[in-house]
Amino acid sequence: MYYGTETQLTDPHSIRLIGAPFDGTVSFRPGTRFGPAGIRAAADGLESYSPLIDADLESVSYADAGDLFLPMGNTEIALSMIREAIEECLDDGALPFLLGGEHLVSLPAIQAVHARYPGLVVVQLDAHADQREDYLGIKLSHASVIRRVSEFTGQDHIRQIGIRSGTQEEYRLMREHGTLTTFREEDLAALKDWIGERPLYLTVDLDVFDPAYLPGTGTPEPGGIDWWTFQRFLKWMQGCHIVGMDAVELAPQLDASGCSSVLAAKVVREMLLVAGAGRD
Ligand code: MN
Ligand code: MN
Repeated sequence: MYYGTETQLTDPHSIRLIGAPFDGTVSFRPGTRFGPAGIRAAADGLESYSPLIDADLESVSYADAGDLFLPMGNTEIALSMIREAIEECLDDGALPFLLGGEHLVSLPAIQAVHARYPGLVVVQLDAHADQREDYLGIKLSHASVIRRVSEFTGQDHIRQIGIRSGTQEEYRLMREHGTLTTFREEDLAALKDWIGERPLYLTVDLDVFDPAYLPGTGTPEPGGIDWWTFQRFLKWMQGCHIVGMDAVELAPQLDASGCSSVLAAKVVREMLLVAGAGRD
């Protein structure tokens, strides 16, 4: 379903799916390197039409560029390869949609997008703050990805939603900068106002969903959202100027039922439709 065609790969209005199967810095359960393949396989069984958005993928120009061939043992080389692929995508005028991989893969993507769109705002859906200064002494970690992003966007250009896990220090930081928000209707309205006309990067760590719905992830965290909450969120994001996005942290083999991959593929479909609607 996601493969697109040759012409769509060169269509300047296209959304480009890029797989980044990297899980080199995971702290708990590995396996997100199989995320992009899991999403593609599950996508084949989904309808291309979304009743909520009332749009069909057939009306969206997108293409799957396949997976990057990343060296698992070398974080820096892997990240620079991702950044290069995102830059190439932006050079072609396409909108990058990265499929992880662990959350660290978002860092080079956001760097590349930020270089093109200096006023970029970042909205993170996640169970975890990802605001650690470092994790076990390592600064380039999935647990530090938003902290690294804040170093070039500023904390005042970041909003975090769904967060329910972090250190006391992370919570102090997030409260100080007011980055945290919720899925309450009034907060989503305020989020949309806050984004306004500014270019938006949407980073979706799939562990924002409750482990009951998405157990196939490296660091499951109780107390997460359901599908309807996510859809309500995305509905609010319709009409925003989305210039980059990702869906990360699916580890398909950790869910023998396969349902996590189906949920992730449906997330990708809805994001394609919401971002694609504003592009022609
Ligand atoms: Mn994360
Ligand atoms: Mn997370």
